[in-house]
Amino acid sequence: MGKILVIATFNPHKLGELRALLPGLSAELRALSAFPGAEPAVEDGETLEANALKKALAAARFTGLPALADDTGLEVDALAGEPGVRSARYAGEKAAYSDNNAKLLAALAGVPPAGRAARFACVTALALPSGEVSVSRGVLEGSITAAARGGNGFGYDPLFEVKGGPRTLAQFSEDEKNAVSHRAAALKGLLPALLRLFPAG
Ligand code: IMP
Repeated sequence: MGKILVIATFNPHKLGELRALLPGLSAELRALSAFPGAEPAVEDGETLEANALKKALAAARFTGLPALADDTGLEVDALAGEPGVRSARYAGEKAAYSDNNAKLLAALAGVPPAGRAARFACVTALALPSGEVSVSRGVLEGSITAAARGGNGFGYDPLFEVKGGPRTLAQFSEDEKNAVSHRAAALKGLLPALLRLFPAG
């Protein structure tokens, strides 16, 4: 059996992006959701770092395999950094992407374009079953649009215009998003550790 890197997620969009961002590793990337009995970690940390570490460590302990997790937050300046670490639950515990996006647009109603600066921050964590961990952060700057645009990506992508404009992340192809994204930037910091575990074939 080949070596396995567990991707500590139940989100198929994230799995797809991480797969595309890690093509060279000599590992099979397998989602935690594919392990019978696995459950999503409760994301109750105060920071993206805390949540990413919690997810990676829980997945590594459960599977006995190296595990990679990410935690992402959208930080909006006009909202003092909200929704930040609470981005997934911005409109409530079981909020759909559309609920979160509607709440964000309502919170920024009347704010002119110049006041709508925001960034995606992503923290990736790699954990081994022994408890050894590495962590890395990446950021993508942009602003919140007045209305959703584009059908690609997921989450807040249709409302996030990448700095320099005019397109939202949902108007980027998957390859274009992966060339600039917060997730790609964060993963770069973990590549040396990943390549030590799974040298490129
Ligand atoms: P988490 O990292 O799974 O906790 O995600 C936090 C929230 O941010 C969720 O609502 C996600 O849908 C959203 N999110 C995470 N990554 C991205 C992204 O790359 N683009 C847009 N939204 C994202």
